[in-house]
Amino acid sequence: MRTRLDDFISRISAQRDILDHIAAGQASLPDGPILEIGLGNGRTYSHLRVRFPGRHIIAFDRENGAHGSCRPDDDDVVIGDIAETCLSYTGTRAAVVHADIGTGYREQDAIIREWLPSRVVAVLAHDGFAASGLELKHPELEEMPLPASVESGRYFLYRRR
Ligand code: SAM
Repeated sequence: MRTRLDDFISRISAQRDILDHIAAGQASLPDGPILEIGLGNGRTYSHLRVRFPGRHIIAFDRENGAHGSCRPDDDDVVIGDIAETCLSYTGTRAAVVHADIGTGYREQDAIIREWLPSRVVAVLAHDGFAASGLELKHPELEEMPLPASVESGRYFLYRRR
């Protein structure tokens, strides 16, 4: 039987492998910042900083709660409800959007899935990549093949048309 620990490990590995996959092809990425939707403890933020050197990273959360070793400048953290704050970044043309705001609760995640795809499209450049722990259904987001190490349905990768 799968445990929550198993699920956590597979989610975190999927996150890392997908971000590494995008980074490996970054020569073909459009210009633009990286948006980290859900800063949390900053683990993914620390990975993005290393894998995408020179890219401006803007993080979104209710607070700047990242660990001191990888805490973004407060100027690079957009505080508030992402459903609202993301809208004010419409037209940003981000090269990469990473969204890790799933709750693990079916009903709550269903609500997030209603607003998150349009927010991602609003901030993402054409040909930019979006990686998300929740499925993003939107006509402008084309689902992309996952790295072989990532179980189908565990994490999602898209390119904006
Ligand atoms: N990837 C992060 C890391 O490596 O540490 C973990 C992200 S954690 C799973 C999700 C984060 O998203 C939490 O810090 C939570 O506060 C934030 N979050 C979720 N929904 C949000 C919302 N609607 N507005 C603002 N922040 C939100």
